[in-house]
Order: sequence, then structure tokens, then C-alpha cells
Amino acid sequence: MLKLLFFGVLAYLAFRLIQKVRLSGGREQGNAKPGSVDEMVQDPNCLKYIPKGNAIKKNVGGETHFFCSQACAEAFRNKKM
Ligand SMILES: [Zn+2]
Repeated sequence: MLKLLFFGVLAYLAFRLIQKVRLSGGREQGNAKPGSVDEMVQDPNCLKYIPKGNAIKKNVGGETHFFCSQACAEAFRNKKM
């Protein structure tokens, strides 16, 4: 139980760190290292990058997309239709 909480805090801190790095070091290219912590996916609606684990997975028009929020998923689906 405590382990789970610790992992949650760690994931949150990692997410905050990624956000910070993205804001400050815009020019740095993110090389996908093998065994990286979490894969980043792009929200096709707002073009924001989110960790795959936190993204909302939706099937739109036969393709799988990842969204930062339910609202984005719906907005994207409306755009497609
Ligand atoms: Zn979004």
C-alpha cells in the first residue's frame, strides 16, 4: 500500500520534471532511450505531449489516438465528423 503511494508520488514528480524541462529547454531533442520511464504521446487536438500512461486512449475513425483529456477527445472526434 505504501509502495503504491510512493510510486504515485514518484510518477507525479517525474511528470512535473518533464513539464519543467519542456518549458525551459525547448531546443533539446528528446532522444528515445531504451528503457525510458514513460513514452510521450501527442494529443492531436491541442498538440500537447502527455505521458502515455496518463493519456486517454480513443479510437477515432479506425485509428487509435491519445488525448490529454476527455474534452479533447470529444473535440477531435467532432472535428473528424
Ligand atoms: Zn488536449
